[in-house]
Amino acid sequence: MKLVILDRDGVINEDSDAYIKSVAEWIPIPGSIEAIAQLSKAGWTVAVATNQSGIARGYYDLATLDAMHARLRALVAEQGGEVGLIVYCPHGPDQGCDCRKPKPGMLHTIARHYAVDLHGIWFVGDSKGDLEAAVAVDSQPVLVMTGKGQKTRSTPLPAGTLIFDDLAAVAAELIHNSASLNG
Ligand SMILES: [Mg+2]
Ligand SMILES: [Zn+2]
Repeated sequence: MKLVILDRDGVINEDSDAYIKSVAEWIPIPGSIEAIAQLSKAGWTVAVATNQSGIARGYYDLATLDAMHARLRALVAEQGGEVGLIVYCPHGPDQGCDCRKPKPGMLHTIARHYAVDLHGIWFVGDSKGDLEAAVAVDSQPVLVMTGKGQKTRSTPLPAGTLIFDDLAAVAAELIHNSASLNG
């Protein structure tokens, strides 16, 4: 199967240092909804792996998080596409869980769900932790310049990291060159 995995905040929707705490604060980055829909319509399964420590911090609850993801799914559906599995880590950085990126637990969950090997699968993120999680499972780290991407780019990146302006550019690359990729 053709699978691509996305970080959420800073890749699909605008990030905020104050956390995304409500559906009203969940604002898509221009072109990102269309990009996901285009990938879906081109035969790609688009999964999401997102750290949401705001849950552990009490900034919002699971019902609110679910509502944000329902909004994401509805917007993509309006464009004729579909969002695949969305996996989130609700834990704080001190809880020692296996899912909070840079740990790769969420990527393993996605791999089990779809029964796929993560080797070479593109994982698109804007933070160092995303790239490190990708490398930990032998996936292809992909950095976008939205969200924290510019800041991340100014730090040492894992070897082989691909860099794109935004999710729309990633989608265009995958769709136009998918014949040459595994899957
Ligand atoms: Mg992010
Ligand atoms: Zn976790």
